[in-house]
Amino acid sequence: MPDSLSVLIIDDEVINLQIISDILRDEVGIIMAKSGEQGVRKALEFSPDLILLDVIMPDMDGFETMKRLSQDARTCDIPVIFITALDDIENEEKGLLLGASDYIQKPIHASIIKARVALHLKLINQHRILERLSTIDPLTSLANRRKYEETIRSEWELMGELNETLSLAVIDIDNFKQYNDVYGHAAGDKVLQKVATILDNNFNHNGDLVARYGGEEFVAIMPKTSKKEALLRIKKCIDEVHEIATICAKKDNHVVTISAGVASITPKKDLDFESLFAAADEALYLAKYNGKNQVKWKSVTTKDTV
Ligand code: GH3
Ligand code: MG
Ligand code: MG
Repeated sequence: MPDSLSVLIIDDEVINLQIISDILRDEVGIIMAKSGEQGVRKALEFSPDLILLDVIMPDMDGFETMKRLSQDARTCDIPVIFITALDDIENEEKGLLLGASDYIQKPIHASIIKARVALHLKLINQHRILERLSTIDPLTSLANRRKYEETIRSEWELMGELNETLSLAVIDIDNFKQYNDVYGHAAGDKVLQKVATILDNNFNHNGDLVARYGGEEFVAIMPKTSKKEALLRIKKCIDEVHEIATICAKKDNHVVTISAGVASITPKKDLDFESLFAAADEALYLAKYNGKNQVKWKSVTTKDTV
């Protein structure tokens, strides 16, 4: 069973909590709750990977608890296994219709609980791996465009709420078509990987995300980052790419460089995150137009540039 995972057990009878946690404690982290109410609170607080939920409880029964969990975006995706003494089909159906992942009947058999929980945790792990893979670019191992879209949306919202500056950089390798033509596609791929590593190392502040946007274009999301800071960080990347250039180009002194456009703004209601990307993209165009191997900044609302 994967360790590092946690299971929340909700049961009004302390003896049951004890028995089930004794069965599982060697394999997973255990959180216990003695009522539906407490269970919902602990689910929110600890975000467990799986919930084992008793059906018959005073005040708030298992079905009601399940409803409450499924109504909250923070808990609605946590799989729930009902554990109950009830053995009628109707209740089993009711639980499954409410979205339960499975149903285990009391009396509790250690081997059955262990096996069922192990199966569900394995499924959860597989799901997470697939989810992670679907957001990663296979060549560079950076986040992919899908992950970028997801993150820029949420950072735009969050920075707006916090009234903080959000900076975005669009970064593009210069004359890359020519590089591929001269050195071949495989050498081009190596350059992409090296540039990706430099970007990855430089955008590791809390909340940063660097992604491969497509082809030889990258994006870096920098929450709580001013224009000045964002420009400094991009300039550092530009310098570092310059340093790896000769390693990549073995033959003559073909130099690999990157250009970047940066835009920064405190998100406002009358704008959307696409306006931030558009401004950074325009700034990139200016950097290219101005001779490449440099960064330009553009404001989202006005026309001033650096
Ligand atoms: P500019 O300085 O204006 O950006 O010119 P450029 O040549 O870099 O831009 P252009 O858009 O003309 O060409 C992009 C090149 O990037 C063409 C394409 O073959 C190459 N490319 C895109 N994706 C990959 C990839 O995954 N691997 C390799 N090796 N090359 C790629
Ligand atoms: Mg009970
Ligand atoms: Mg290019």
